[in-house]
Amino acid sequence: MSAEVVDGKAVAASVRARVADEVKEFAASNDGHVPGLATVLVGDDPASHVYVGNKRKQTEEVGMRSIHEELDDGTPEDELLDLVDQLNGDDTVDGILVQLPLPEQIDQDEVIARIDPAKDVDGLTAGNAGLLAQGRPGLVPCTPQGVIELLRHAGAELSGAEAVVVGRSILVGRPLASLLLGENATVTVCHSRTRDLAEVCSRADVLVAAVGSPRLIGRNMVKPGAVVIDVGTNRTDDGLVGDVDFEAVREVAGAITPVPGGVGPMTIAMLLSNTVEAARRRRL
Ligand code: NAP
Repeated sequence: MSAEVVDGKAVAASVRARVADEVKEFAASNDGHVPGLATVLVGDDPASHVYVGNKRKQTEEVGMRSIHEELDDGTPEDELLDLVDQLNGDDTVDGILVQLPLPEQIDQDEVIARIDPAKDVDGLTAGNAGLLAQGRPGLVPCTPQGVIELLRHAGAELSGAEAVVVGRSILVGRPLASLLLGENATVTVCHSRTRDLAEVCSRADVLVAAVGSPRLIGRNMVKPGAVVIDVGTNRTDDGLVGDVDFEAVREVAGAITPVPGGVGPMTIAMLLSNTVEAARRRRL
């Protein structure tokens, strides 16, 4: 058996097309106001520059307004907090994204906590995380939301399914566990202290790896026919690889996402979707 390879680029393109329609509808019913996404980049990390550049480009491609602020590597925390306050108070800004990681003199948690939860399109504030944990509507982190879209696209039956998430970060594992619970899956979350990871993973109908460990998930850890979503992005001598041993696991899985071209493209697509959602909620 060889798994269906889930094409994240194609699913992301369909999400962007949907968002572009929603932007037009939103503007038509809000006196021409186009949702605005503010990106804030501090320092000169080359990868962050590429990520933010892609986010800005795609924001404009779906017809939204991109507002961009760039600060020096040595910027004091107060200055960044003042900028966040200014963006919070700007009614033309619907979403605020502060690119992480931040330089070491800045406390990341302080900055996230300062973002108006109504504009927190990364879904990282305690308020939005709390709403998600309680199963109530809020702004949901982009990567886990993208994973759910891919599972839907792959036709995974989530209700009653055994879902195993490997990784418990605030960015991916934890919010994803809440989303899967919201879909009525039976959810197990694994981490670095999990005993017998292979045994737990091999129970999964739906297996999501969000670890940051190249090819950690091997063929012996996957139930035949399982849907496997690989969030991991690891730069190795062989190039970009996921947390799943793709070539081995595709022989047993029912469906699998590749790296690159799986979860990665979904993250920005869901960011755009969250920005329209934030714009709508702010005007309810
Ligand atoms: P993270 O904050 O470093 O969390 C990693 C998690 O994996 C932790 O919960 C850790 O457990 C667990 N872990 C580490 N080694 C393990 C092992 N041997 N067995 C089981 N669990 C183990 O990472 P993250 O931010 O969630 O990101 C995870 C991966 O996804 C990274 O490769 C990242 O680059 C990628 N990512 C991709 C996207 C995208 O758009 N494609 C977005 C976000 C992240 P403990 O909690 O016990 O330490």
